[in-house]
Amino acid sequence: MSPIVAEQCQFQPLTAKDYKSGISPIWCPGCGHHSVINGVYKALADLEIDPTYLMTISGIGCSSRLPYFLKSYKMHTLHGRAGAVATGAQLARPELTTLVVGGDGDGFSIGGGHMPHMARKNVNLTYVLMDNRIYGLTKGQASPTSAQNTVAYTTPYGSVEAPLNPLLYMLTYGATYVAQGSATKPKSCADLIKGALDHKGFSYVNILSQCPTFNKVDTLGYFKSMVQNIPEDHDIHDLDSALVVANHQEETLPIGLLYQAERPALHEQMEQLVTRVDGTPDYDLRQVIDLSRP
Ligand code: SF4
Ligand code: MG
Repeated sequence: MSPIVAEQCQFQPLTAKDYKSGISPIWCPGCGHHSVINGVYKALADLEIDPTYLMTISGIGCSSRLPYFLKSYKMHTLHGRAGAVATGAQLARPELTTLVVGGDGDGFSIGGGHMPHMARKNVNLTYVLMDNRIYGLTKGQASPTSAQNTVAYTTPYGSVEAPLNPLLYMLTYGATYVAQGSATKPKSCADLIKGALDHKGFSYVNILSQCPTFNKVDTLGYFKSMVQNIPEDHDIHDLDSALVVANHQEETLPIGLLYQAERPALHEQMEQLVTRVDGTPDYDLRQVIDLSRP
């Protein structure tokens, strides 16, 4: 279902400031998440998504605080469970735009069991993951995306585990929109989030976002030196090419849209199923909820 846009609401015309909740972000100075939220504001404004038809769902972590700073309906859920809650909420109210935000620890460690299922089911939501390769809120522990030999409070002699590659993960499990942005490139971030919100199905945007407080190495400098735009001749509909691009993150960090595909979203398949079984898609709450209310 297409996002509800400004023509259908009383708030037009919308600009980025119309999506600010009035609570200023409390992230540390220099945190990459400041850049990410500006990208979210811009993407929403560009698409003119009605804030009263927007739900933002997060788990736990510094990045999971983002909904407080965004004008939308919101749920700050349990650690790692944002995706599961969002899946249920999206099925109940498929006409709303569903945005999930969180971090690498929340998404891939505590919430790691939910990520594949959002992708394979093609839940119609956008997941923006702020990947700073560390647990920030709990003051600096190695996360699933931390590079090998990361020195942190839990790994004072360096971590021994190989990091998880979020792009390969999402491509492999069937996500239909997979992109990577960098907080060092705010315009590109906004464009990728906009494309994700406009996509029907499960859209995943991994954003490299430095944590100057707990990354013990210069992650901002590392990201700046390693990011590289995906070549313009890359075929975003070719999964094999996307896997190749995603598989070389140690040499270069690809920025841009890796893959996009069209496939029925979960709520569409549910509607078809219910119609096929008894002809009454009565799980669709649009039939019983008055959508004209503000
Ligand atoms: Fe950002 Fe790190 Fe500060 Fe958390 S601790 S707000 S991730 S800089
Ligand atoms: Mg993190």
